[in-house]
Amino acid sequence: MTDSRPRPVAVVTGGAQGIGRAITGALLQQGWQVMIADIDGEAGTECIHLFDNLGPVLFQTVDVSREEQVRQLFQATREQMGPIKLLINNAGIANPFSGPLEDLDLSNWQRYLDVNLTGVFLCCKHAAGDLRDTRGSIINLGSTRALQSEPDTEAYAASKGGVLALTHALAISMGPDVRVNAISPGWIEVGEWQKTSSRYQPFHSDEDHEQHPVGRLGKPDDVAGLVLWLASDLAGFVTGQNFVVDGGMTRKMIYQGN
Ligand code: NAD
Repeated sequence: MTDSRPRPVAVVTGGAQGIGRAITGALLQQGWQVMIADIDGEAGTECIHLFDNLGPVLFQTVDVSREEQVRQLFQATREQMGPIKLLINNAGIANPFSGPLEDLDLSNWQRYLDVNLTGVFLCCKHAAGDLRDTRGSIINLGSTRALQSEPDTEAYAASKGGVLALTHALAISMGPDVRVNAISPGWIEVGEWQKTSSRYQPFHSDEDHEQHPVGRLGKPDDVAGLVLWLASDLAGFVTGQNFVVDGGMTRKMIYQGN
């Protein structure tokens, strides 16, 4: 017997490459419709061809830091697919290294904040009405770099720290209608999940893998699996939380010389 229920609608920002591409594929396989919202038109178009055999999938070119573009994204999604039940705020400047503090231009700092943090706020704001009506949920991509740091990562770390704080603030403001959670990945290798023209075969040393308590680097599907659970009714008692997906790295005590 076929399932005649309409597919619920998800918006995945940054859904055309990397972790977002894996999330898009996983949601389609689980019976969602997906609107991919990404700044990269080439990657988005490629995704439509890659995924259209899995279910209804559309693409819209959007810079999540631009409010008018975000407003249009949700209007178009509503008109073409229906009311939004799930928002995945995944788009981000993923390179954490913005250079030495003394050389960090205000414009560079501001761009990290605009895309990684303000973009999350804008998408939540413009999806809020639908999400309340559908009793939906939001999942924000944070980072373990919100919790610990390497040198020269101030802008990225601050932006992701903001995402974690915004997550619990939204959970309180939007409950009981909408659940809001964050996923903080550690080192996830995304080279094979880029658009064809910038795809690369990653190389990693044994040490890269073995330093992780689980014995390997992360894959985009490690994050997508948690997204499916958080978006489901199985997670109905879970909101305002941050889930670390890092192979155990942030639980490892490191004293050099021992
Ligand atoms: P990625 O660069 O492979 O993919 C990011 C996608 O976001 C791209 O398709 C890009 O075009 C899009 N994007 C960038 N700026 C945008 C904008 N202004 N508007 C709309 N789309 C935009 O990155 P990824 O590694 O898959 O990272 C995805 C998310 O996970 C990011 O928020 C990143 O900070 C976070 N994260 C990644 C890792 C990791 O190891 N890969 C670790 C921690 C957190």
